[in-house]
Amino acid sequence: MFKKILVANRGEIALRVICACKELGIRAVAIYSDADRNSLHVRFADEAICIGPPQLALSYLNIPAVISAAEIANVDAIHPGYGLLSENANFAEVCETCGIKFIGPTPDVIRLMGEKEKARAAMKKHGVPILPGSEGVIGSEGEALEWAREVGFPVIVKASAGGGGRGMRIVRSEDELPKLFRQAQSEASAAFGNGDLYMEKYVENPRHIEFQVLADEHGNVVSLGERECSIQRRHQKLLEESPSVMVTPELRAQIGGILSKTLSAVGYQNAGTVEFLMGADGKLHFIEMNTRIQVEHPVTEMVTDVDLVKSQLMIAAGAKMEEVLQGPVVHRGHAIECRINAEHPEKFTPSAGKITTFNPPGGTGVRIDTAAYAEGTIPPYYDSLIAKLIVRGKDRNEAISRMGRALEMFIVEGIYTTIPLHRRILADAEFRAGKIDTGFIERFLAKGK
Ligand code: ADP
Repeated sequence: MFKKILVANRGEIALRVICACKELGIRAVAIYSDADRNSLHVRFADEAICIGPPQLALSYLNIPAVISAAEIANVDAIHPGYGLLSENANFAEVCETCGIKFIGPTPDVIRLMGEKEKARAAMKKHGVPILPGSEGVIGSEGEALEWAREVGFPVIVKASAGGGGRGMRIVRSEDELPKLFRQAQSEASAAFGNGDLYMEKYVENPRHIEFQVLADEHGNVVSLGERECSIQRRHQKLLEESPSVMVTPELRAQIGGILSKTLSAVGYQNAGTVEFLMGADGKLHFIEMNTRIQVEHPVTEMVTDVDLVKSQLMIAAGAKMEEVLQGPVVHRGHAIECRINAEHPEKFTPSAGKITTFNPPGGTGVRIDTAAYAEGTIPPYYDSLIAKLIVRGKDRNEAISRMGRALEMFIVEGIYTTIPLHRRILADAEFRAGKIDTGFIERFLAKGK
């Protein structure tokens, strides 16, 4: 096992990785920007190194600064968390060159999954169901039109290097295609420095369902079941649950089996998430793979009792799957996660500043992943996620009532948060009936609830 690792992240996920290190007896080294000097990930790490000013490009995204910190602290490995450098194949490569283990897949596999039209082709080749769409990158507007005619409107034009819902346009008819194609192209170039586009059939009001996998470095891949992430705002997840009410044990086993074979064939290693959309026909279609730990990983941990971050560390240190899992994966109960963002609950504008009161709930079946605390400050430079409230119940109904009371007892003052919005979602009859899809929040807000 590693003796010392560097956590190349901040906020709740840095703290989450530090928890796993402490339980495995690994020393954890934190890095921080000037804005994070008083953060809990700095306080609870065994060592901490300041890597620069608040701006991301000068600190957490500054590869030479991160690598220098790792070399000064003389670590064996780097855990990238999510976001930031976690899916940066060049960073993984630099780690490798410097003799530091990157906790994640190999640079080649990160690169393959990062080019989404290539990932689609790889999945299709091994029998994973994908949506009808273009093959490879679309070369021109004329080619886009040909594909759209073949696939049938509506279609969605997407950025090959995409992420965070950017460079994506829904096209409902031939005449709007050229304009929307150009818009997607310039948005993708600006956001990712790569304007490559591909196209898929657009699924009306789909469910977003994703599968968590773990793969060791000896060719063994297991699926830990699914998460339903259909409660989204502007293509960003707000609330997740596991299991999905739409996934039967047969479908779970079938998709799990296909994914194990596919990911073993592409040489996948460590934790990963395979995202699917489910249309009205109840069938799952691959959209993309994320080659890192996800924000919503705790819902899977709550229903399987598998610590995914400890598993990542053990796998990266060379452990075999049977040692990591110590028995078959059993799913018990139902878990829900609410993302508590420092945002205005209706306008969704960021709300940085000083937290005056912070009273997180507790009690049976409640888990909080956060780096926030009373009198602490939320800096304006970073992601707005400040806490994740996760509950587990013996079934979905118990999880919903537990989440309802936990939200009521979660008091944050001094900044705006999404807690009031979550309370209203939890009280909604359609949500409670499990009638959810990616259009839920828009309809919900339009109802004026
Ligand atoms: P990103 O990497 O930018 O997050 P994804 O491919 O994961 O992009 O898609 C994000 C979200 O966009 C999905 O969860 C879904 O809500 C919507 N979406 C993506 N592809 C389609 C599609 N073919 N049909 C309908 N909605 C889609």
